[in-house]
Amino acid sequence: MKAIVVHEFGGPEKMRLEDVPDLKPAVGQVVIRIRAAGVNPVETYMRAGTYPRKPTLPYTPGTDGAGTVESVGKDVTRFGVGDRVYIAGSLSGTYAEQALCEERSLFPLPANVSFIQGAAVHIPYATAFRGLFDRASARGGETVLIHGASGGVGIAAVQLARAAGLHVVGTAGSERGRKLVAAEGAHAVLDHTSPGHFEEALATTRHRGFDVILEMLANVNLAKDLSLIAPHGRVVVIGNRGTIEVNPRDAMTRDGSILAMSLWNATPEDLLRIHSALSAGLENKTLRPVVGQEIPLAEASRAHVAVMEAGAHGKIVLIP
Ligand code: NAP
Repeated sequence: MKAIVVHEFGGPEKMRLEDVPDLKPAVGQVVIRIRAAGVNPVETYMRAGTYPRKPTLPYTPGTDGAGTVESVGKDVTRFGVGDRVYIAGSLSGTYAEQALCEERSLFPLPANVSFIQGAAVHIPYATAFRGLFDRASARGGETVLIHGASGGVGIAAVQLARAAGLHVVGTAGSERGRKLVAAEGAHAVLDHTSPGHFEEALATTRHRGFDVILEMLANVNLAKDLSLIAPHGRVVVIGNRGTIEVNPRDAMTRDGSILAMSLWNATPEDLLRIHSALSAGLENKTLRPVVGQEIPLAEASRAHVAVMEAGAHGKIVLIP
């Protein structure tokens, strides 16, 4: 089969399409025929070799994907050959024609959800769910600012927060992104490239502030976020690409909390609980993954450039 292989850390060009041996499942494992693989920013940090988690070289990138079950190992009970599934973690990497997975990392792909949408579920939706509900304990009736709502995590957060009865304000840097965020359910949408958007965001809450802020670029926004929270407000740091100076007094005066998260810290039990909720949302169509770009697997390096560019419009997926 064909797979993207990284032999040394570096730029996007380090990802090459190669012929590798077909995969065979061991006990409790399943081989998936990949129909689409999700591209997440974290895979660019790993490829560059700058991320705390460093894969052993050579490796095939990718955690997310969707496809059909090709073969099952001994003791696999939940899936059979031909089943449609989405992947929430892979032993071999999903940027490939086949992926080896533990049975517990697979979830049924509802008939109404396409393979490209299935590839857009795991990291974006599980992160948005964990940020909103596990970390921030968001509740219906609260207000949430999704600071960076046009990308994979942001669109997922808009849909999840809206379905849970929150008042949702989202931001995007492009007109196209703002239209998407509004279409996916945000009550108000602002432009995070405009310096005035912080004040505009506060005005949408009648100057009470946000109960929850999900922050996709903390090194740019965290200091201002602390002045946008309501009493007892919670900021969840999801994305961060540098350092920033904050005034802790802004949080003190509001009894506010700065929370942070990494999806890698979710236990298998957490993931089972989260994906049970996500599966229900996919089935009843409150969750509708949006794919903005489909790129051939052979052009994975182009996908890694694109995912770091401004103007997000949902997810980027690779097609083997
Ligand atoms: P993505 O699809 O590439 O989207 C990036 C988002 O950031 C877009 O909505 C983009 O908006 C927005 N953005 C750009 N400039 C911004 C600014 N000044 N203020 C606020 N938002 C801004 O990435 P993603 O998958 O949604 O992930 C978002 C971030 O979370 C990434 O940094 C990623 O590494 C991180 N992440 C963390 C975890 C975790 O476990 N902590 C899990 C998943 C992702 P425009 O393009 O419209 O400007």
